[in-house]
Amino acid sequence: MMFSKVWRPQLALLCCFVVGVATTAGAHEKLHQIETFLSGAQIVSGPSEVDCTLAGGTTATCFSVTVIPEPQSYTPGPWCPRSINDTAAQGGIWLENGVVHDVDGAFVTKLAELYGDTNWQLFDPETGDVRFTGTLEACEAAARPNVDPAYQNHCVECLPEYMPDDATLTFVIPLTPTEPTDQAPTDISGSGIALNGVRLDAPAPVEAILGAYTIAPFDDCGGHVNPHVGYHYHAVTDCLSEIATPTDADHGAQIGIAMDGYPIFERLLPDGSEPVGLDACRGHTDASAAYHYHANDAGSNAILPCLSAEAGCVLTDPDGVCDASAPPRRRP
Ligand SMILES: [Zn+2]
Ligand SMILES: [Zn+2]
Repeated sequence: MMFSKVWRPQLALLCCFVVGVATTAGAHEKLHQIETFLSGAQIVSGPSEVDCTLAGGTTATCFSVTVIPEPQSYTPGPWCPRSINDTAAQGGIWLENGVVHDVDGAFVTKLAELYGDTNWQLFDPETGDVRFTGTLEACEAAARPNVDPAYQNHCVECLPEYMPDDATLTFVIPLTPTEPTDQAPTDISGSGIALNGVRLDAPAPVEAILGAYTIAPFDDCGGHVNPHVGYHYHAVTDCLSEIATPTDADHGAQIGIAMDGYPIFERLLPDGSEPVGLDACRGHTDASAAYHYHANDAGSNAILPCLSAEAGCVLTDPDGVCDASAPPRRRP
């Protein structure tokens, strides 16, 4: 029938351009595919082949790529509005209960109502100025898990220029994923690496942030800066689709590689529909491709709800060795 005639060439196309999926391709070919996929990233070294120990203790062959964690296709920010009169263009976004809110001036005035707590006071009631972290010291004190009380009721923003010039992140991800049979949390490894080299992180620790009467907005691309790991995403918005090459007319573009090595596609199919048959981690195997994920809704604060296979590592030391089965050393 006509359908299969149309479909088959796309099958072939998809199989050969999907990066991170278990194929019969040799390691050299896979590294080349990964390098091509990450061509929009600021790569310092790699991708190269390394030995690694995955989260479940499996010893494996991984690729290692060291990047400067900043996008090249846009300038990150803005995050915190400066005044309660600022427009949405002067602030970022905040995620609450599945909803993406613009952090404009009006949003700052509505926090007490939104969270049902009159202790919220992120702005000076006399001047309308928003209280925000304007220095590296303030950002560090406010971004740590136990927020310095002096920065309660502040909008937290850390600027990319606070990062040392030589700050890098090294992603160590299995070249051949283990079987997709787990539902492991993303909080240690994060979710993956985006095609522009930016970390697709675990959910932001919203309870701790809100508990200190702070918000730490994301820019409109879903990213913000943490002084330890640099710019990273907590939501996938249109920004990645805009720079991605559509892999398949029926399945949309691959926007990242998960920490377990499986590909991550856009949330929706090109016709705007949700992919069918997704598992708890938003992964599936369908007629066109081996196991892969579809990124979660931006408002969910979970780019991937879980990882289906054993994760590799994200290292701040480019010479570090990945043992993802070791006790976590990451911030809580
Ligand atoms: Zn963050
Ligand atoms: Zn799919």
